Amino acid sequence: QSVAVVLGTRPELVKLAPLIHELGPAARLVHTGQHWDEAMSGRFLRELDLPEPELLTGVGGRPRAGQIAASLGQLDTAFDTDRPTAVIVQGDTNATLAGALAANARGIPLVHVEAGLRSHDRAMPEEHNRVMVDHIADLLCAATPANAANLRAERIPDRRISVTGNTVVEVVRRQLPSARRRHALLSRYALTPDRYVLATVHRPENTDTADALGAVLGELDRIARAGTAVLLPLHPRTRAAVERYALTALLERLQVVEPLGYADFLGLARHAALLVSDSGGVQEECTVLGRPLLVVRRSTERPEAVDAGFAALVSPGPELGLLAADWLADRDARLARLAATPSPYGDGHASERIARLTAALAVPELAAA
Ligand code: UDP
Repeated sequence: QSVAVVLGTRPELVKLAPLIHELGPAARLVHTGQHWDEAMSGRFLRELDLPEPELLTGVGGRPRAGQIAASLGQLDTAFDTDRPTAVIVQGDTNATLAGALAANARGIPLVHVEAGLRSHDRAMPEEHNRVMVDHIADLLCAATPANAANLRAERIPDRRISVTGNTVVEVVRRQLPSARRRHALLSRYALTPDRYVLATVHRPENTDTADALGAVLGELDRIARAGTAVLLPLHPRTRAAVERYALTALLERLQVVEPLGYADFLGLARHAALLVSDSGGVQEECTVLGRPLLVVRRSTERPEAVDAGFAALVSPGPELGLLAADWLADRDARLARLAATPSPYGDGHASERIARLTAALAVPELAAA
């Protein structure tokens, strides 16, 4: 009697970790290998204290349909050999969709964690993944009331939807290093608290053309020229793109490092004067850490951080540099205001709720007893 938790990428490990702990020995981790390497998965499993997953043959590097098809076939075999009582998927990756389809094909109850996000940007494969998964899931765990409203607007029956909060709140609280360790971390990178920018860039819209990537890196370079340190942990996809487009000169003034472990990333984000990122997870984490964020994206499926005053959406060009300069100029007032603003992502008990709802879905007669 196990609950299969399907994983494929770094954010899934991060966000599902508290739920996996909550499920205890009932959790059976299956990793599709979508993004499987030491820096992006192996280290996260250890840091988040997760058990070794069943690792399917890696599907990274293939085109999207091939990834989904290969993962689906392998998950189907895994679920046939040892049938779980429920399947949990999170977010919007190809692994999420493959896990959802595999559960659906075998008639196994499907739980979607972080349901109801919508960017309404049909150019994003993630938008298609989340819409498809939401429409076949049996239990949709929406992080916020607005996410639940998106689901109702698509006529998904209310009885399938629960507002649980986002597990990011508890994972950040648990993984954030102590003040002493954060101090040591900042010394290691020679950074002064509240005086540096921490940036991440990896989405296709910012890395798939020389113009877009050049525009983002050009603005980070401008911030560094104006005298603010910019730390950039470089995602493997972005590193490859920088080389492909011969943009290494734009990195010269930046402090470029390998992708960071999760606790180190949080520790450094906690004291950044400003975050600049196209990541989904960072849009949520900034609200728990109380730090301002410029989201370098065309659209966002996470309007909560913008609405609560933590974040603003900017295009990769001069708008990014101009707003960064503005926000850095009134940094102290902004940081004080954000420190007093609650996160819109819930109370830090999302994983308990999701575990309870999953148990009720998987073994209804036990839950009723
Ligand atoms: N992250 C990390 N180290 C880094 C950069 C990011 O641990 O060097 C974390 C970040 O805090 C967030 C997650 O990785 O929780 C985001 O992953 P990614 O940006 O790949 O995916 P997305 O959130 O956009 O789906």
